[in-house]
Amino acid sequence: MKKELSAHAVDFIDDKYFDNLLNNKSAEPSQVRDIIAKSLDKKALNLDETAALLRTDDPELVEEIFAAGRRLKKEVYGNRIVLFAPLYIGNECVNDCAYCAFRRSNKTVIRRTLNDGEIESQVKALEDKGHKRLILVFGEHPQYNANYISDTVRKVYSVKHEHGEIRRVNINAAPMDHEGFKMVKEAGIGTYQIFMETYHHETYKKVHPQNTLKADYLWRLDGLSRAFETGCDDMGIGALFGLYDWRFDVLGLVRHSLFLQERYGVGPHTISFPRLKPANGVVHESDYLVNDYDFKRLVAILRLSVPYTGMILTARESEEIRREVMSFGVSQIDAGSRIEIGGYTEAGDAQTQVLEREQFSLGDLRSLDTVMRQLMEDGYMPSFCTSCYRLGRTGEHFMEFAIPGFIEQFCTPNAILTLMEYLTDYASPETRISGEKLIGKEINSVKNSIIKSKVLEQIDKIKTSDARDFYF
Ligand code: SF4
Repeated sequence: MKKELSAHAVDFIDDKYFDNLLNNKSAEPSQVRDIIAKSLDKKALNLDETAALLRTDDPELVEEIFAAGRRLKKEVYGNRIVLFAPLYIGNECVNDCAYCAFRRSNKTVIRRTLNDGEIESQVKALEDKGHKRLILVFGEHPQYNANYISDTVRKVYSVKHEHGEIRRVNINAAPMDHEGFKMVKEAGIGTYQIFMETYHHETYKKVHPQNTLKADYLWRLDGLSRAFETGCDDMGIGALFGLYDWRFDVLGLVRHSLFLQERYGVGPHTISFPRLKPANGVVHESDYLVNDYDFKRLVAILRLSVPYTGMILTARESEEIRREVMSFGVSQIDAGSRIEIGGYTEAGDAQTQVLEREQFSLGDLRSLDTVMRQLMEDGYMPSFCTSCYRLGRTGEHFMEFAIPGFIEQFCTPNAILTLMEYLTDYASPETRISGEKLIGKEINSVKNSIIKSKVLEQIDKIKTSDARDFYF
């Protein structure tokens, strides 16, 4: 792999500047309310403004930040929650990250890489549950090079079972060189996710031993810039909260978003904000573990800072926290997830985990069907939509649609159609009843009469024939 950085490679994270921003005195309530108003006007916040919200710990103002997060979520994403599942392909790794069960020095982990037949059976098991969107996860190892990952992506798309198929494959893997990103783009990936884990230089150095590939801070920070330069256009960034001061890493994520927006005309497609969780063979010696109240602040402030970026909340968190935090701005969740390698055929819906086979422990082991029903009872519209990706509404094109709210006209109809497929092919009787009731209500919110009659026609086809995969 040629370690050639992007044309604009620069370390845009200024720790001192962040520290100064966070150590300033608390902003006046009127200033905080002005910043909230700017977010509600769907304008991205700059670092000063995000820092002012992060310095705000007056309970009354924090409640206003929560309320604004909820309102913005509704106005930009409506009540839709997009669903996906993770599929761990292999946990060989040359790195030794202090917080990870897959690190090379951890001898208690069970190492495994799925072969083609096993990938096929995992994907079939996921399709038989109703999943349409996957994220493939790989350790960092020469075995998982761009060729291997591209072949795996094609393999996953090739698996069809009855009405089951995977329509969007995202990737969470190590940063590649330009050649590598070009290859995986050609294989048809959706989002490429690279998490910085922490943007704080000292902490980054501490948790990533110097003699490992992941120790190269700039190579990782520059990863998605290289991806943009090779035509990839949906990027996912993230930080592992609990490694350092959560407020610092929120600033890091916002700075990263602004940097990509400035340089490539489009910010990240998604932001992830996992919290440190117990993991096999890992002792988390951190003074920065994030409690539930601060986790809610973190999510709401991110929502207000980057109005148009999707926010992913994973099953690391418990059912209770997920149900509470979702309203603050989350747009995507995983459900029915197993992160043991081979877990979808070997663990099924068991409510226990095999930690020796996992990167960290999960907090929410509910099945996809249970999560679907709960989402609908909580007033959300579950969606397996992949139409923007498949119609080329990605990156800059996606933004054009999102900003004027134009996409609203398509998201609800697409959510209704993917939900109807799920209800017809995979749902339990109880979930089908809740779902059909919700669709009845949602169909009335489709303003465009032409789209509305088309959706009704397609719902009927899904119910009465083998026709599937309708979208706008
Ligand atoms: S976090 Fe990723 S790179 Fe680090 S040890 Fe775990 S799998 Fe390897």
